Amino acid sequence: MEDYNIDQKIQDFIAQVEAKNPNEPEFLQAVKEVAITVIPFIESRKDYQGMKLLERMVEAERIIIFRVPWVDDKGEIHVNRGFRIQMNSAIGPYKGGIRFHPTVNLSVLKFLAFEQVFKNSLTTLPMGGGKGGSDFDPQGKSDMEVMRFCQAFMTELCKHIGPETDVPAGDIGVGAREIGYLFGQYKKVRNEFSGVLTGKGLAYGGSLIRPEATGYGVVYFCEQMLSTINEKIEGKVFAVSGFGNVAWGVIKKVNELGGKVVTISGPDGFIYDETGISGEKVDYLLELRSSGNNRAEDYIKKYPEAKFFAGRRPWEIKCDVAIPAATQNELDLEDAEKLVKNGLICITEAANMPSNLDAINYFLENKVLFSPGKASNAGGVATSGLEMTQNSIRLNWTSEEVDARLKEIMVGIHKACRNYGKEEDGYVNYVKGANIAGFVKVAEAMLAQGVV
Ligand code: GLU
Repeated sequence: MEDYNIDQKIQDFIAQVEAKNPNEPEFLQAVKEVAITVIPFIESRKDYQGMKLLERMVEAERIIIFRVPWVDDKGEIHVNRGFRIQMNSAIGPYKGGIRFHPTVNLSVLKFLAFEQVFKNSLTTLPMGGGKGGSDFDPQGKSDMEVMRFCQAFMTELCKHIGPETDVPAGDIGVGAREIGYLFGQYKKVRNEFSGVLTGKGLAYGGSLIRPEATGYGVVYFCEQMLSTINEKIEGKVFAVSGFGNVAWGVIKKVNELGGKVVTISGPDGFIYDETGISGEKVDYLLELRSSGNNRAEDYIKKYPEAKFFAGRRPWEIKCDVAIPAATQNELDLEDAEKLVKNGLICITEAANMPSNLDAINYFLENKVLFSPGKASNAGGVATSGLEMTQNSIRLNWTSEEVDARLKEIMVGIHKACRNYGKEEDGYVNYVKGANIAGFVKVAEAMLAQGVV
C-alpha cells in the first residue's frame, strides 16, 4: 500500500512538471530520473514533509532569454538566441557552463541547469546551479566571427552575472578561446577584473589542471567504482565516445593508469583503433579539435591502421569499461544491451545525461556498475570551484595541489554515492546515491532560508 502511494506520488509529480513544461523532453527526462529516486527519500523524512522542496527545485529561480545580433566577415547580419538559466542559489552563486551548439534550446539548458544543481552540491563546494548558451555554431566560423559573437553575447549577459552572483564557464563549443573573448568583454563593459568566469587562461586568473579536470575526475571516479569489485584500470579496454576536451582528459588519464582506449567518435561516426589511442595520438586529438572540423574520420588519414565506421556509435565494440563523453542521449537501450552482452563491467558517464532512461534501467537491472554524469563528471565544475577559490585568495596553486584536491573531491563524491546508494546485496545504485546525496545539502539550505 505504501509503495503504491509513493509510486502514485511520483507519477503525479511528473505529470505536473510535464503539464507546466510542455515540449521539453530533455528537461522532463532529467527530472524523472531524480523524482524516482528522491521522492521516496523525501517521504521517509518527517522534516521534509509539505515543504515542496522538489517542486521548488524544478522551477528555475530566473531564466534570461536574449537576442544576440552579430555581423559576419562578409558584413551579413545574424541573429542568435542567448540563454542563462539561474536554477538554484541555495548553496552558492549560480555556477555552470555555457554551451554554443545548434541543438541548444530551453529544454536542453533547463535539463543541464537542473543536473548542475545536484552535481555542484556533490562537489561539497559552495556553488549553486546554472547553465547558459546559444544556438550559435562556432564550427566553420572565423576567429573574428567567434569574437564578435562572444562580445555580443556578453554585452547582454554581463548585466546578470558576477563573481558573487553567477559564474559561467565552458561547455560544448565554449573552450579557452571563447572564455577569453567573453572575459574581455565583461571586463570592458563592467570595468571590473574579477573571477566572473572559470576556465580562464593561465595568464589572467585560470587554474592549472582545469582543462584536464573533467576527464581526470571521471577516471578517478571510475577507479573508485572498479575498486568496489576489486578491479582496477590497468589492463582494461575502454570504449570512449567524443573527441573533445572531456574525452581528451579521460584518454590521457586512462593511459597513465595502464588502461587501453580503443575508440573515439564524432558526429560522423566512430574510430576503432585496436592498438590503443596513446602517446602522440592523444596530442593529435587536440589538433583534430582545433582544426575546427568536427570529423572523427580525419583520424584515419594520419593513422590508417585504425578503422572508421560511418554513422555508427562505439558501443558495438567489445570493452570492459564504457565512457560516453560526447553529449546527451548518445546511448540507448539497444547500445546498453550490446555492451552488456559483450561483457561490460562498468560504465562511467563523462558527458551530461548521455544514457537515456531505458539504458540506465537496463544497466541497473543487470547490476553493471553505472555512474551518472552528475556524479562522475563533477570534477570539471569542482576544479572551477578551485579556480574561484584561487581568484578569491589571489594565489595560484601548483598542478599537484589542484590535482590532489580534485582527486580528494572525486573520492568524496564516490563515498557519498555509496552512502545513499548501497543496496542490500552490496550493489551500489549510483543514480539513487548521487541524486539523494546531491539533494540533501540543497534541501537543508533551502529549509534554513525559508520560502524564498
Ligand atoms: N560545463 C561543465 C559541466 O557540465 C563545467 C561547468 C563549470 O565549470 O562551471 O559541469
